[in-house]
Amino acid sequence: MNSMIPEQNTANLQSLDRENYLHPFTDSKALHAKGTRVVTGGEGVYIYDSEGNRILDGMAGLWCVNIGYGRDELADVAYEQMKQLAYYNSFFGTANVPAIELAAKIKQLAPANIGHVFFTGSGSESNDTNLRMVRHYWTQKGQPEKRIVISRNNAYHGSTMAGMSLGGMEFMHKQGGIIDGIEHIMQPHWYKESTAGESVEDFGLRAAKALEDKILELGAENVGAFIGEPIQGAGGVIVPPANYWPEIQRICKKYDLLIILDEVITGFGRTGNWFAAQTFDIEADMIPFAKGLSSGYLPIGGVAVSKRVADVLIEGGEFAHGYTYSGHPVAAAVAKANIDIIEREGMVDQVRDETGPYLQAKLAELADHPLVGQVRGMAMVGALELVQDKASRTPFDKDVEIAAKARDNAIASGLMVRAVGDCLIMSPPLCITKAEIDELITLLSQALDKAYAEVQ
Ligand SMILES: *Cc1c(COP(=O)(O)O)cnc(C)c1O
Repeated sequence: MNSMIPEQNTANLQSLDRENYLHPFTDSKALHAKGTRVVTGGEGVYIYDSEGNRILDGMAGLWCVNIGYGRDELADVAYEQMKQLAYYNSFFGTANVPAIELAAKIKQLAPANIGHVFFTGSGSESNDTNLRMVRHYWTQKGQPEKRIVISRNNAYHGSTMAGMSLGGMEFMHKQGGIIDGIEHIMQPHWYKESTAGESVEDFGLRAAKALEDKILELGAENVGAFIGEPIQGAGGVIVPPANYWPEIQRICKKYDLLIILDEVITGFGRTGNWFAAQTFDIEADMIPFAKGLSSGYLPIGGVAVSKRVADVLIEGGEFAHGYTYSGHPVAAAVAKANIDIIEREGMVDQVRDETGPYLQAKLAELADHPLVGQVRGMAMVGALELVQDKASRTPFDKDVEIAAKARDNAIASGLMVRAVGDCLIMSPPLCITKAEIDELITLLSQALDKAYAEVQ
């Protein structure tokens, strides 16, 4: 397949890119000086660039290409569906076959309390939907003042106005401010935020108690929901203490808050179950998803809505909300075919029982590396926190950009990983084999060695 990728003139493409294309989440000036890497092909867990480099994609694109690249089956499904019915909406009493079938399939895979599925075009849109749904729900229930949503610092919930506001990324909030009615509490990040000698358990309770404190400060009658990623992804793959989510659920129940569980990364197998709600035993009212739903082959997302919320929405007349592409037939058909592949190839079980534990065991071995302060992860997602001094958890000077150094080394040697602050993070395709994990770990370890040598 990749032999069919035409030769590209990289310099020409970079120049066109520089002159015409504004990139998302990019320091454009720095990029223009350096030149864009042009990705031209993908097969399995590998991507190929216009210079002929083969790179093991340790990030599955942006946490999304769960089944790997180059699946002709999805292209065929898209082609057939586009010929049959390229588009129709679901607004005014209509629907299409793929959207109906996909909703049924997602409900079948989702936790038992899920009643209905709403479709969007992305994870950000899903969280915009959530904010409106929470407020509409409480208005229908006769408590319109329950409109505040509580989130966590360093959370990522997307980049639209509501997604960014729900998220807890300060550098994003600084660019234009956030919308009203959203509050943030501490994140459950033991390595960074525990006090000297504080156990993981004590810290987990303290981080959850921050929610109760905030509810009491605002008045429970004013708070409609709590939103959280089961594992914070873009924040640095932060796996909360085991007692955190049970305690969060207890608090939400006590003060009658809905739970929005952002599964845009964790949904569709990444934690070794279809949803992390199952992995962590969390009963959520809204589960936004996107990324792995279609493995990125086409843009589509949605929200799985609990029976208790869906019942109120159904009884409540028209909810004036939706997107032109909600339930897009081609995207829905491709998503359904993607789920079929994950099922047929037993990918979720494989991640839970074999490749996930294998990746975590191999990453754990890197804890001995002089740069690695902490190894975090679960199943098919992982992170290395890089520090200058392991005993005192002292980070490097910011200017050192230690994780960026290690990442650049990795990419140069054929491994795509991402740097977040001082962390290297990874989220490989779920189809990755043990041999490919070995290759990933070897390249990662060499990239760390090289970065270590550079800072000595
Ligand atoms: C990526 C992501 C989003 C946003 O999804 P988009 O499709 O980029 O809009 C939302 N929440 C989480 C947890 C994400 O990782």
